[in-house]
Amino acid sequence: MTWPGLIETYRDRLDIEPGTTAITLLEGNTPLVPAPTLSALVERQVFLKVEGANPTGSFKDRGMTLAVSKAVAGGARAVVCASTGNTSASAAAYAARAGIEAVVILPAGNVALGKLAQAVRHGAKIVQVAGNFDDALRVVRDMADDRVALVNSVNPDRIEGQQTIAWEVMEALGGAPAVHCLPVGNAGNITAHWKGYQAADAAPVIWGFQAAGAAPIVHGEPIDDPETIATAIRIGHPASWEAAVAARDESGGMIEAVTDDEILAAYDLLASSEGVFCEPASAASVAGLISRRAELPTGSVVCTLTGHGLKDPATAVDESVEIEPVAPEVDAVRASLGW
Ligand SMILES: *Cc1c(COP(=O)(O)O)cnc(C)c1O
Repeated sequence: MTWPGLIETYRDRLDIEPGTTAITLLEGNTPLVPAPTLSALVERQVFLKVEGANPTGSFKDRGMTLAVSKAVAGGARAVVCASTGNTSASAAAYAARAGIEAVVILPAGNVALGKLAQAVRHGAKIVQVAGNFDDALRVVRDMADDRVALVNSVNPDRIEGQQTIAWEVMEALGGAPAVHCLPVGNAGNITAHWKGYQAADAAPVIWGFQAAGAAPIVHGEPIDDPETIATAIRIGHPASWEAAVAARDESGGMIEAVTDDEILAAYDLLASSEGVFCEPASAASVAGLISRRAELPTGSVVCTLTGHGLKDPATAVDESVEIEPVAPEVDAVRASLGW
């Protein structure tokens, strides 16, 4: 059977009125790819849940299909969100599909180009505020009303839809992994992972990782000027803070920090050794796994790779990539290769 998208697949397990029309781009059903190089390095079986394979290139589609379907059923004429990029890309695509407006509020600077391109092409109205993500979220919370649905992860429908990732992992492995690693930004996704596992009576250890320059939960206090190359997790006041801490503590897990250098090393390893290209924020899950590998219990490990590498071409093609043309002759090409 062809995959019908998350709502049709999990309708009986999701909080959605029977008969609600699904606004779907056939999200979900993403590959769980074995990672042999990483497995050898950490001496556990490691799998990568490749969320970049979703329709807009990130896990945000899992929650957006539910949030936009319910918003439309409730009579919304627009969706609004604050976004470091992927939420806006997803909201814009699902709003376009539904035939309603999308308004996205971006923090100043540092929105990865691929994500902005998506919001533009899907026809979202884009406003950039002279502030950070946390400022943008404060603004959209005040904009939401009966006809304007807030689709940030403070909307419980987002978390509800995102929990499907845990169910897919369990179906693919025939049970939960021992440890599930993921990046933590606004902390909706770690909340959703834990919710999904609990709903399925499973309790893997949850390891969440923040970027060292944006690690409020690790330090136990909000940060006003978060800084990291991993723009998707450059968040100083996580909206789902308490639920993230509950996921950590109830699962016997951790929320720790990884440096930008560790993130970039993991990003490189994934692309060059596993053949999987994710965005920098996604690689925080693997950076954390590598740095904490001495503490792994026995059993398999899943790392959520939250978004596709093409989202952030500027980080991918840094100054190290300089391609000079040579003569169109085999000898010249061989010489250039050093063959
Ligand atoms: C949104 C996002 C995150 C962070 O998820 P939270 O739910 O905010 O913790 C991480 N990586 C990518 C690629 C994202 O788009």
